[in-house]
Amino acid sequence: MAYAYDDQNIFAKILRGEIPNNTVLETEHTLAFRDIAPKAPDHVLVIPKGPYVCFDHFCNDASAEEIVDFARAAGQVCKMLGCEPGHGGEGFRAITNAGEDGVQEVPHYHLHILAGRPMGPMLLMR
Ligand code: AMP
Repeated sequence: MAYAYDDQNIFAKILRGEIPNNTVLETEHTLAFRDIAPKAPDHVLVIPKGPYVCFDHFCNDASAEEIVDFARAAGQVCKMLGCEPGHGGEGFRAITNAGEDGVQEVPHYHLHILAGRPMGPMLLMR
């Protein structure tokens, strides 16, 4: 079944310039901006400019050019935040939530990059 993309989601509005954002990096296919409700001293969202709902949608349907651009942009954000482990940084956590079980709030694919504090254990089994 095809993914249904809601072009009224908040990140689509950011991409159209209808609401402001705190941009960290913009490339041809990718935008990175600060999360409005940060969960760590550095909390950046990396999003593709194309209309992809979630991680698997992006991985399955985006072009190779979009995927490479996105991955390089995410790497560049880590560099800009100075959190790259092995390069003087203390590390980071990258998270993507998908769908109901993943508790995804905004239905436009995004990667959270969180840095600036120890993140604690990943998840607890319930
Ligand atoms: P998720 O639960 O993975 O869909 O995460 C959505 C994220 O988007 C949350 O961390 C929100 O704080 C963040 N968010 C929602 N609206 C905005 C906005 N206008 N600008 C920046 N971040 C936002």
